[in-house]
Amino acid sequence: MSTLIIGGGLAGICIAEQLKQIGEPFKLIQPTNIPSSTAVATGMFNPIVFKRLNLSWMVDALIPEMLTFYQSLEASLGVNLVEKHELFKKIKNQAYEDFWNKRLKDSEYTPFMGDINNTFGEVKQTGTLDCALLQTSYISKLKSEKLLIESKFQLENLVPDKDQLHYNDETFDRIIFCEGAFAAENPYFKWLPFKLCKGEWITVRAEEPMTDIVLNNVVNIIPIGGNEYKLSSTFTWEDLDWKTTPEAIDDLLKGFTELFDVPFQVIDQKAAIRPTVADRRPYLGSSPDDDRLFIFNGLGSKGVMLAPYFSKHLVKHIFRGEKLLPEVDIKRHYKRYLNRNENT
Ligand SMILES: Cc1cc2nc3c(=O)[nH]c(=O)nc-3n(C[C@H](O)[C@H](O)[C@H](O)COP(=O)(O)OP(=O)(O)OC[C@H]3O[C@@H](n4cnc5c(N)ncnc54)[C@H](O)[C@@H]3O)c2cc1C
Repeated sequence: MSTLIIGGGLAGICIAEQLKQIGEPFKLIQPTNIPSSTAVATGMFNPIVFKRLNLSWMVDALIPEMLTFYQSLEASLGVNLVEKHELFKKIKNQAYEDFWNKRLKDSEYTPFMGDINNTFGEVKQTGTLDCALLQTSYISKLKSEKLLIESKFQLENLVPDKDQLHYNDETFDRIIFCEGAFAAENPYFKWLPFKLCKGEWITVRAEEPMTDIVLNNVVNIIPIGGNEYKLSSTFTWEDLDWKTTPEAIDDLLKGFTELFDVPFQVIDQKAAIRPTVADRRPYLGSSPDDDRLFIFNGLGSKGVMLAPYFSKHLVKHIFRGEKLLPEVDIKRHYKRYLNRNENT
């Protein structure tokens, strides 16, 4: 009686941990040669959407759940994963400043926003999860517990019969697909409207210190020690490969050189594909073709905040029969499933 999880990014790791916490047996498949958005993610959590100065969706529920969840992982893995810090947003013009000050008068926003000082507005309850460290330490723990299968999941090797799902020489009761951007090619779920988004970041080393706080001037400028700063990140919906580009360097440097005029060099660059979806809400639920095949996806650019809460939500749905929130239930797109032959 067990679950097979496909993919060891944030989604798969959070599902695995939720199953562990309720004592449900599982195995997770993650090879070393398929890329992952989690390995590259900057890992920031931020309760404010800067464009419209709105609160991020469900922030009151997501932030406490996220902090408890990652703190418990820090304890079990013996690593520091979360760094809480403030973030200071560059206020570009008078209209934005007026809007910011209007929000400050709204009690819903005051736990998350502070005053403007020297053209930067304070954002509270932000921080960074070390996603790459979480991934490497969690996967190596699974390996030591013999819960890791280190090969690519091959759909053609899956043999479902009426009682069980046979995969190679093992049998499972269900599969939870947490394949990130690769789900857009999964025949069971590719009818869902993915809107994948490539992202890149760079690290620059400056000749002198520039800031010891995290700034946002379109891009986040994150001090990482030794006069080095991570500039994160770009958003592009074309040329969806996992390769770094010179264009991203130019884009990322704009926000940086606008604020700082010191010599620097670019010392690192990474790229990945975010599992972003059209309506910006996660994908949870089971395949209309086989109700033992589940998906947990669509974490987009907010995986750090979304994954703990919604992995628990899906696990409660599967094991306790609790109803999924309509906003995250893939049933919201069933019309596309019914019309899938017209959409392809
Ligand atoms: C540049 C950049 C910056 C980002 N910054 C942030 C940030 O600051 N804050 C934030 O919240 N989010 C950020 N994100 C988004 C974040 O990375 C995602 O929300 C999150 O990591 C998605 O997790 P996932 O598990 O769904 O996908 P992934 O991390 O991509 O994991 C999917 C996994 O499935 C595996 N897989 C796929 N197919 C198979 C198969 N057939 N067999 C076995 N394994 C398979 C892949 O190898 C991969 O490891 C950023 C993303 C990028 C690209």
